[in-house]
Amino acid sequence: MRKKPLIGVTPQYHLKEKFPYIENVNLEAVAEAGGLPVMLPLAASEDDLKQFADTLDGVLFTGGWDIMPYLYGEAMLKECGPQTPLRDETELSLVRAAVAAKLPVMGICRGIQVVNIALGGTLFQDIPSQCGAKNTVVHDQTGYLTSDYPSHKIRVEEDSVLHGITGKKEMLVNSFHHQAVKDIAPGLRATAWAEDGIIEAVESAGSNFILGVQWHPERMFGRERDALMLFLDFIERCR
Ligand code: MN
Repeated sequence: MRKKPLIGVTPQYHLKEKFPYIENVNLEAVAEAGGLPVMLPLAASEDDLKQFADTLDGVLFTGGWDIMPYLYGEAMLKECGPQTPLRDETELSLVRAAVAAKLPVMGICRGIQVVNIALGGTLFQDIPSQCGAKNTVVHDQTGYLTSDYPSHKIRVEEDSVLHGITGKKEMLVNSFHHQAVKDIAPGLRATAWAEDGIIEAVESAGSNFILGVQWHPERMFGRERDALMLFLDFIERCR
């Protein structure tokens, strides 16, 4: 039997009960694409994370709460949401360990933000209050009854991994975020934007495979071929 790539998936952190948990769609998307998903811990030393990076074939950073602004050199705005320090510290170290080990990395929602911060970028702490009149797109589709339908358009850079995967210059995506990439980290490039200019995807500018998306393909892969394609491509790169 052909061995499946082992994909470490980072969990959410429950604010009140203080335990890690994963929305199962993250594991289902990895499995559907041919990977073997495993939930990672949120308390591991630098050495342990390096060993995880040596053992895994790829890492998926999932959605979640806001990242502590001090980690990208900013004071917290009152519009910043709840934060999970243990997760922030673990994930930032894990991004660096994964990149050092040349592991393929995929980031979803908070995941694109974690990757950007770990590599030296910054975030808008709150799109509505910081982008003002420029924020013409609804980035939090809470009015939708389900999260597997798209709500806004993105433009995809033609010469990009994302375009290579989907073959599309324009896509419709779902949207559940009030934060977004502001300054892009060295070594990353933006490759998709919403119509109001908000960055919706970043990827590695070098040979390491890093793809971060601001939307939630793991909630759409059952309905949308493009969403599944992202996972199929990622798992193929992890082999
Ligand atoms: Mn959006």
